Amino acid sequence: MAGEAQDDCLFCKIVQGHVPATIVRETDTTIAFRDINPQAPTHVLVVPKAHYPNAATLAAADPSVIADVLCETKVVADEDKLESYRVVFNTGAGVGQTVFHVHAHVLGGRGMQWPPG
Ligand code: AMP
Ligand code: ZN
Repeated sequence: MAGEAQDDCLFCKIVQGHVPATIVRETDTTIAFRDINPQAPTHVLVVPKAHYPNAATLAAADPSVIADVLCETKVVADEDKLESYRVVFNTGAGVGQTVFHVHAHVLGGRGMQWPPG
């Protein structure tokens, strides 16, 4: 069924507490935890508790939850006192998605270039 936890999904395991993570926030529908390989002083991943492979599939299936994810990115940025920050949903292996449970990267605390590589 859409949104059900997947046995082979790392982020489902983090949501279930079966794999440890540095969790910074939790809501009814989302959790946020620090990236294990941070690319900036703040690098937090906001994920829905439900399993969807990427932002496109979640947006199509449950727009209110992707809105929850986006609202949480703002709270994470506020808690780390970021005036400028970047929110990224890598969507597809071709642009670097490696974990196929939708997640928003919240990156900040250093200057960044545009366009991204
Ligand atoms: P993406 O390449 O957009 O799919 O991002 C996946 C992110 O998950 C990468 O930035 C990884 O560093 C991060 N990551 C992988 N394993 C873990 C983990 N166990 N805990 C926290 N972050 C992780
Ligand atoms: Zn999952």
